[in-house]
Amino acid sequence: MRIFDTHCHLYDDSYALDFDKVIKEAKENNVQKMLVLGDDLLNSKKAILLAKNYKEILAAVGIFPTSCYELDLDNSINELRNLVINNKEVKCIGEIGLDYYWEKDEEKKAMQKKFFIAQLNLAKSLNLPVSIHARDSIEDVYNILKDNFPEKGVIMHCFSSSKEMMDKFLKLGCYISLGGPVTFKNAKTPKEIALLVPLEKLLLETDAPYLTPHPYRGKRNEPKYINYTLKEIASIKEMSQEKLSEITYLNAIKLLGE
Ligand SMILES: [Zn+2]
Repeated sequence: MRIFDTHCHLYDDSYALDFDKVIKEAKENNVQKMLVLGDDLLNSKKAILLAKNYKEILAAVGIFPTSCYELDLDNSINELRNLVINNKEVKCIGEIGLDYYWEKDEEKKAMQKKFFIAQLNLAKSLNLPVSIHARDSIEDVYNILKDNFPEKGVIMHCFSSSKEMMDKFLKLGCYISLGGPVTFKNAKTPKEIALLVPLEKLLLETDAPYLTPHPYRGKRNEPKYINYTLKEIASIKEMSQEKLSEITYLNAIKLLGE
């Protein structure tokens, strides 16, 4: 069995003391590939460094919505472009998007939108897929994406919206990525999404160190725990874990390369 964790942040300080063990245990638990996503320029560089040092790791570079306020847009986009051009390990632009949960200020929301659109267009110009974070912002994300769609592919990371919204994103051609929340006891909507999402558009992720699946909820997440998410979705879809892991692995390879 092989599993692709399409969203994690393994440069996080919480892995400083046992990073090699985390990777070793991921591999022992069938996680063969991990996409590590930057959330600012520094962490994007850290993601690239990890990808250079571990053959199981691929890198994504990007600026997270709430990380953009102090930055100059043109300089940031140029830096991201150079990171992609100079490092073949970069397979995706992310984590980008809009976050209105942590941000209520209209001016700052407008700045998030500018960075989101510019990074979508960067992905287009570099022919890379994107990984998108949407929190309390799904309508705006949809409207922006509709007009700035990167043809190489779009991952809706940890999709947590309604079935109706999922259908709209699927219609655009997006992939739906599911993580730990699917395993939570009262997660009615994520379980419904897991049931209804077409297999050819489904990806698995951890968002480690965040969103740890049941029964480790509240603890530090790591790639090996993706097995709990795999098990839950396989049970919801009434199929074997082997088959589900293989289909989603190949979906990720198709999108991100090897
Ligand atoms: Zn993330």
